[in-house]
Amino acid sequence: MQQGKVIKAVGGFFSVRDRAGSEYLCRARGSLKKGKQALIAGDEVMFEPLKEPSGDESGEGVVEKVLPRANFLPRPPVANVDQVVVVMSLKKPDCDWQMISRVAVLAEKEDLPVLVCLNKTDLISPAEIGRLNNLTDPFPYPIIYTSALSGNGTDDLEKRLAGCCSALAGPSGVGKSTLLNFIQPGLSLQTASVSEKIDRGRHTTRQVTLLTLDNGGTVVDTPGFSRLDLKSLEPEQLAGCFPELEAIRGRCGFRDCQHLNEPNCAVPEELGRTINPMRFEHYKFFMQELSQ
Ligand code: GDP
Ligand code: ZN
Repeated sequence: MQQGKVIKAVGGFFSVRDRAGSEYLCRARGSLKKGKQALIAGDEVMFEPLKEPSGDESGEGVVEKVLPRANFLPRPPVANVDQVVVVMSLKKPDCDWQMISRVAVLAEKEDLPVLVCLNKTDLISPAEIGRLNNLTDPFPYPIIYTSALSGNGTDDLEKRLAGCCSALAGPSGVGKSTLLNFIQPGLSLQTASVSEKIDRGRHTTRQVTLLTLDNGGTVVDTPGFSRLDLKSLEPEQLAGCFPELEAIRGRCGFRDCQHLNEPNCAVPEELGRTINPMRFEHYKFFMQELSQ
């Protein structure tokens, strides 16, 4: 048996890449088709290459076993990622800050680092950049600004994708494919207008593919997501998924302070200092959502 990584999962078939870079089209043993251990992209697996009658490898194989996952992201399902990169555009469509926090909570839940990439900087004015700086001061995650049109900032993004596996999250139309194509032209990902994509999204089945970059990074190409629910989280766990709230834990009057009007809560003192007011609004919004 050989070890490999599932780089694509579609319709009961799995592309598995071995350490040397060869790809095998695999099926999975019955027990790996359903339930919690169902094979997904990013899984490290043990597989048996199949042979032709001549004794040569056929390029096909059977996955026998899934190795334990370091982490798991549910939407789209992908295993063993090293960081989550939330991509948003600043215009067309407008930046959805709450969605950034939502994705970040899910990443934090899996103990994954978060990077925010704000694309289409070419569409905003210097005055708007000033407003953005205010809006994001402070911000608990690194932010990089890019334009896939002019190439500004894409070298920074490329550096941050090198040598690790990144899950790219972000709605359709923000420029994920254009950015990846800019970083590595050979990928030739399909880009399309927002309405075309929404149309296509309705009619095609979702597949998850790990793209390999020349800089040693892999990127999970997510076909866009429409909603992300935090339901798997208990309300008491939410503050732990906001690093700026986690940082003041122990300074509130109650050890299990949920930062919602409790006496001697440290949040009011930190609002606008170490805690971004917009982020705290997201926290309250998610709290309400989780308490329903
Ligand atoms: P995806 O759905 O996130 O993969 O988005 P695409 O890469 O398909 O881009 C959607 C549209 O936005 C396309 O028409 C792109 O040409 C355009 N686009 C992508 N990046 C930029 C950018 O930095 N600036 C501008 N002005 N347009 C961009
Ligand atoms: Zn508190």
